[in-house]
Amino acid sequence: MTIKRDYYEVLGVNKNASAAQIKQAYRKLALQYHPDRVAPDKKKEAEEKFKEISEAYAVLTDTQKKTQYDQFGHAGIDGRYTSEDIFRGTDFKGVFEEFGFGKGIFGDLFDLFGGGGVRRKRGPVRGADLEYILDISLEEANKSLEKTINIYHTITCPLCHGDGAKPGTKKKTCAKCKGAGQVRYTQGFFSFAQPCPQCKGRGEIIESPCPECNGRGKVRKSSKITIKIPAGVNTGNSIRVRGKGEAGELGGPSGDLYVVIKLKPHSVFERDGDDIYCNVPISFAVAALGGEIHVPTLDGKVKMKIPPGTETNKTFRLGSKGVPNVHGRGRGDGFVTVIVQVPSKLTSKEKELIRELNLLDGENLSDEGFLKKMFK
Ligand SMILES: [Zn+2]
Ligand SMILES: [Zn+2]
Repeated sequence: MTIKRDYYEVLGVNKNASAAQIKQAYRKLALQYHPDRVAPDKKKEAEEKFKEISEAYAVLTDTQKKTQYDQFGHAGIDGRYTSEDIFRGTDFKGVFEEFGFGKGIFGDLFDLFGGGGVRRKRGPVRGADLEYILDISLEEANKSLEKTINIYHTITCPLCHGDGAKPGTKKKTCAKCKGAGQVRYTQGFFSFAQPCPQCKGRGEIIESPCPECNGRGKVRKSSKITIKIPAGVNTGNSIRVRGKGEAGELGGPSGDLYVVIKLKPHSVFERDGDDIYCNVPISFAVAALGGEIHVPTLDGKVKMKIPPGTETNKTFRLGSKGVPNVHGRGRGDGFVTVIVQVPSKLTSKEKELIRELNLLDGENLSDEGFLKKMFK
């Protein structure tokens, strides 16, 4: 790879050069390096040079491209324009006409510009893929299910079968490009191959378009599609439905439909991988004395033992109460975090009992024990 030189340097002008100065500099160099005006053994070198100065001229005389170049350098041009785009719209004609050059002189310079991206007549093109975001609940993700969705997409026209011509009529070879599908586009002394504007690169003209699709060969419609969703899907998983994307062109196959899963947030559970988490309140009495409580799972309520002396925020694991693994590797776990509730409304009887408890606790948590440990 060769490193591109600065356009201003190539033309030998400074950054504040006026359009007239740029033009003048280019003209001078163009005459010097025109491949037809140099000795045969210097031709190759002159061509490279000519290409370089012409590109610099094309960019620096186009306000938008110049701004882009001044701001971002070559990256601003090469990342944005193809070599055809760089030269499109450049006034080369004016530069040389003043010298009385015939158009033919620069005629074969086209090849200097690589002619990259020149396409032959268009053939079958596969249709685009479509994406559909499907919101499902955690309960739905917990088991395999079928969902029917409604999508808008293009399908191959059922009347002309994608041909575009009214059934019984024939297409005509395009007169403009003679069926080649491309034409030469001339800008001053430069020419580029472009898809034929008359036939849009198809090489054929439809004289009697199909009444169903107006000659497009495809029609837009809504389709109901039923998809099977395996158990355990999560946000970002996608299910491919072959051939349900956009219709292809000129006999190309349809694209695919990708149904992308988005899990709705749940009011009780949080999901992490195949595991699910929830918080469950327990009373102070159960926390202290132990007991059995009911906890929610995706498959309904289950009983869970709370050991005596359970502290708040303690998490218990319920084996295999999570979501099935989407690849069939077992099932995640359920996790229950207990939150010990502090009662806010108390009857006088309850208050009395708690005061009594407080007196007992006071002995256990006296200065002799807990505080002594902290502040000795
Ligand atoms: Zn049709
Ligand atoms: Zn044509």
